[in-house]
Amino acid sequence: MQRYFIEPGQFEAGEVRILGDDAHHLARVMRAEPGDRIICSNGVDREVLAAIREVGKSEVVADVVEERVMSGEAACGVWIAQSLPKGDKLETVIQKCTEIGAARFLPFQSERTVVQYDGKKEAKRVERWQKIAKEAAEQAHRSRVPAVDSPFTWRELMKLVPEADLALICYEKEGALQLKRLLGGFFADKRGIAPGGGSGDAGRVLLLVGPEGGFTEKEVSEAEAAGCRSVSLGKRILRTETAAMAALTCILYESGEMGE
Ligand code: SAM
Repeated sequence: MQRYFIEPGQFEAGEVRILGDDAHHLARVMRAEPGDRIICSNGVDREVLAAIREVGKSEVVADVVEERVMSGEAACGVWIAQSLPKGDKLETVIQKCTEIGAARFLPFQSERTVVQYDGKKEAKRVERWQKIAKEAAEQAHRSRVPAVDSPFTWRELMKLVPEADLALICYEKEGALQLKRLLGGFFADKRGIAPGGGSGDAGRVLLLVGPEGGFTEKEVSEAEAAGCRSVSLGKRILRTETAAMAALTCILYESGEMGE
């Protein structure tokens, strides 16, 4: 069953209106007909099952059949802070980590980031990243679309660390602290919290991943001073675009999202 994230204003008394690309997808690609059922969510606090009534060229109208409990969200909100990688690797990180259950993406520039981001010229890139998150969330049957921020500077990112209940900097040279022990302690008193609502009841985890060239020792020290724990993801060196997926999966697994 197709799922669409729509603006709150597209929910009207007893009906929903699908517009723009979504209407085109429904009408032209899915060849929707009156009576077909779809799921619509405002991406925040409302999700409905609806039955299509009218299929137009630029608008599809559907009658609300029932209100649905918002599921599909993790109880632990994981923020992925990814140093801007080369090429389109960030799109891969956003797509895969949205499927797995990330709550937010915070691209950032660090000392060894090769890609320089020019906010004026490249606002379109953030729009494309957000579109990728929306499409991945629809495909994954999530109730929320993770937000994708415009890239932060390193300083700006450090100021956000206190907003997390647990902040991790993935550092391949970390010899002592292993992820499992750290997460075991953090989630010890949070297991059993019902996943799904995405309310973040099981806490907020900020995860920092470096660029292809890695973090400098100075950056790791600054991150630790800001409250991050330096953590190893094991003995193998992961590509920058692999590291977030691996760490996110471990975090959600340990939080109970994949069963107790
Ligand atoms: N310094 C690495 C090297 O020797 O090739 C390059 C960095 S690695 C390709 C990119 C990022 O992935 C790192 O900055 C780190 O955040 C993360 N990463 C990769 N493997 C890791 C591991 N085994 N433990 C912790 N973090 C890892």
